[in-house]
Amino acid sequence: MNIVVVGAGLAGAKAVEELREQGYDGDVTLIGSEQHTPYERPPLSKGLLLGTEEPDSPFVHEVPWYAEHGVDLRVGDAATALDVAAGTVTVGDRSVAWDRLLLTTGAQPRRLATVDDSGADVSYLRTLEDSLALKQRLEGDLLVIGAGWIGLEVASAARQAGGHVTVVETAPLPLARVLGPEIAAVFAALHREHGVDLRLETGLDSISREGGRVTARLSDGHEVSPDLIVVGIGAGPDDRLASAAGLATDNGVLVDGALHASGPGVWAAGDVANHAHPTLGRVRVEHWDNAIEQGKHAARAMLGDDAAYDRQPYFFTDQYDLGMEYVGHVGATGYDEVVVRGDLEGRVFSALWLAGDRVVAGMHANDWDATDALRAVVGTPATDRVRDSSLPLSDLAD
Ligand SMILES: Cc1cc2nc3c(=O)[nH]c(=O)nc-3n(C[C@H](O)[C@H](O)[C@H](O)COP(=O)(O)OP(=O)(O)OC[C@H]3O[C@@H](n4cnc5c(N)ncnc54)[C@H](O)[C@@H]3O)c2cc1C
Repeated sequence: MNIVVVGAGLAGAKAVEELREQGYDGDVTLIGSEQHTPYERPPLSKGLLLGTEEPDSPFVHEVPWYAEHGVDLRVGDAATALDVAAGTVTVGDRSVAWDRLLLTTGAQPRRLATVDDSGADVSYLRTLEDSLALKQRLEGDLLVIGAGWIGLEVASAARQAGGHVTVVETAPLPLARVLGPEIAAVFAALHREHGVDLRLETGLDSISREGGRVTARLSDGHEVSPDLIVVGIGAGPDDRLASAAGLATDNGVLVDGALHASGPGVWAAGDVANHAHPTLGRVRVEHWDNAIEQGKHAARAMLGDDAAYDRQPYFFTDQYDLGMEYVGHVGATGYDEVVVRGDLEGRVFSALWLAGDRVVAGMHANDWDATDALRAVVGTPATDRVRDSSLPLSDLAD
């Protein structure tokens, strides 16, 4: 059998690793458009920007690993066409045949034309090159568009490097869509305490450039003259190859519970997969843990295991001295109540989000013993014990 994986990011690397772990000894080809072997992206907005991690640290495997495990790794060339009926994918001027195909083509940052067309220096953050280039500019005057995870992590790194940072966000609070107002307020206070000029319910009206000077006019009437504009307004799935091949796509490659796509012999995993989760409904998760676990799950699925992928989403962030982990998913219908244990102002706490009769999500800030308990509690009934914030989180997991 011949298995081909298109997209040499984290999900693709974990998939080929799992194929070998499972004892599969047939052909494996991993195709990637970036020049690098697969690497992890979380350090790009954290350790690499802060200088606490080396540029060669995020790689998933050392270069020799691929040959040692019989993986034909082809990086630096994109797959440009896919023929599902014929079972081939085009890379450069070659056609590569497959019996099973996994798409792990990831996501791309959403672009902001107003900034791209302005002539101002602009940075997006997705690749190793983006991160290394941004690191050189952190000490300047930065305007960050979007107070999402990446925007806030860049703001944190820039402040720690001594840069001057303005963040604009159209929503009333940063991260409010995921965290809700109670916990989002913690992040707003954190950044303001660290000297970020955080402008909420504020957009970018226009940018002009005269001589070398850029002027950005904000919707609150304020003007800034940044050296660099960092755009962090989210990402969209890179499902171009799949949709051009006639596979069903809608905000990503549509996959069933077991990560199987609409075409025979084709699976998708990671940021690009819009998954029919057995308990959460359709969800496309753009997180590190999901790339790892879906990559491995898809590998097993290609070898004949038809179990549904039912893991709860998980992510983490580090900003200044706040580290957090989050488990679960508050869907489009939102939540009814959030129960906080610990010290919200001191930023050592846990939070559980309740919707209907269930605990749908949980997080902790700087309480690293809480992770296992959060995993155990999310998805369970929202009982009076869950609501009783005087009971330790660990007691709920029993
Ligand atoms: C700066 C940054 C910080 C992050 N921090 C966190 C964090 O703290 N916590 C967290 O949980 N998550 C974080 N994430 C998200 C996490 O990194 C992603 O969810 C993860 O990288 C997804 O892995 P993937 O393999 O699905 O996709 P990707 O990492 O996007 O990899 C896909 C690869 O496929 C390649 N590709 C695309 N099309 C083709 C083609 N046609 N042919 C060949 N190759 C192709 C792409 O070039 C890319 O290399 C962060 C992301 C970024 C960008």
